[in-house]
Amino acid sequence: MKLKKFGNKWVVRIDKGEEIVETLKQLCGKNKIKLGSVSGVGGTGRVTVGSYKAKTKEFYPQELIGDYEITNLIGNISTMNGEIYLHLHITISDLNNNTFGGHLTSAIISTTGEFIIEEIEGKIEREFNEEVRLNLLFK
Ligand code: FE
Repeated sequence: MKLKKFGNKWVVRIDKGEEIVETLKQLCGKNKIKLGSVSGVGGTGRVTVGSYKAKTKEFYPQELIGDYEITNLIGNISTMNGEIYLHLHITISDLNNNTFGGHLTSAIISTTGEFIIEEIEGKIEREFNEEVRLNLLFK
């Protein structure tokens, strides 16, 4: 992983074999980035994505293994109980240009990953909401 800061923005390269979510989380923790947005592109070979079923309040993750382009990764950085909390969604495309996507749990870089973090000076804590059974922005 490599990173460089320009003003309130960070340019990040995540390398082959590194897992995106954990790498971004550690980077935010180390550099005290508590609030902001993330976007990225790259290549991945192993992704766990899912969707949340509102009615049953259950998350349905699926692991995809293959050659995928990360056509879009987008999300936000906040905190929950003082810990860095990432909410990331991803869209990937296969060799036939079909796309898949969802809420991102993990993705391992197969080629390279290029990300931009835009840091917001501030802090917003998440709180668990019983009605939707999700960790919502703002306390
Ligand atoms: Fe989500």
